[in-house]
Amino acid sequence: MNNLTNYHSHTSFCDGKAPMEAFIAEAVRQGFTSYGVSSHAPLPFRTRWTIDDREQTGLYLQEFARLKRLYGDRIELYVGLEIDYMDEDQQPANDYFQSLPLDYRIGSVHLLHSTQGEIVDIDTRPEVFREHVRLHLGGDLKRVVLAYFDKLMRMIGRGGFDFIGHADKISYNVSCCEPDILGQQWYKDKISEYFTFIAEKGAMIEVNTKTLHRNGFLYPNKEHFGLIRTLGIPVVVNSDAHLPELINSGRPEALRLLKASGIGAVWQLERGVWTEVPIGE
Ligand SMILES: [Zn+2]
Ligand SMILES: [Zn+2]
Repeated sequence: MNNLTNYHSHTSFCDGKAPMEAFIAEAVRQGFTSYGVSSHAPLPFRTRWTIDDREQTGLYLQEFARLKRLYGDRIELYVGLEIDYMDEDQQPANDYFQSLPLDYRIGSVHLLHSTQGEIVDIDTRPEVFREHVRLHLGGDLKRVVLAYFDKLMRMIGRGGFDFIGHADKISYNVSCCEPDILGQQWYKDKISEYFTFIAEKGAMIEVNTKTLHRNGFLYPNKEHFGLIRTLGIPVVVNSDAHLPELINSGRPEALRLLKASGIGAVWQLERGVWTEVPIGE
């Protein structure tokens, strides 16, 4: 099939489960035309899932340069980072992230602040998310959802990224807590406000296929593909792979669903430039 690309993948520099080289070798083996690695950028504090610090980021870039020399004659290779938006001090638009020699940047929100100022990860297993909402986020699911999309909109307003990572990642966890929440009018209104804002800002989104085979969800939800088409928001389809064997997981299905929704093309990097490419058979 065509459109064999992926620009969202994690390596053992962060929470990926294999060395960078294993992902690139697998992309070559599967005949990908281009491939990008995007470890979680360092935060102001250590976590188990991000690159530790700026020194490690330097080593990450060095390792990419080594692999590009080794494999670059067989595949177009790109280096990015998935950068968390937390606040003014930690966001993709910061001088530090802008000054790094990256090919692209992903802007994502995984963390919310509790009313007590604690940092709460919303991108967890549903059982953990439910406990976080109860213990740290005031137990009010609607408020958590609105805070999440408002945070994303602040990130989008500030810019500094190439595309928005998993645009409604919270949807699966909130629907595990309250099964009919995604169909409630206030939720639909917020989604509509959010994607309209994305379109106004001219931002690109990814369709993230990481959990499609596990829980049936794409991020953004396929229910929103019609709205995305109407608004003309550009789309890149990524697997967010943490294992080399998953670099194309869910992507063919997502591409078919996009095409069926009237979105006939996706964006890919070609010779370093984001290019609109028709979805093939
Ligand atoms: Zn992410
Ligand atoms: Zn990711």
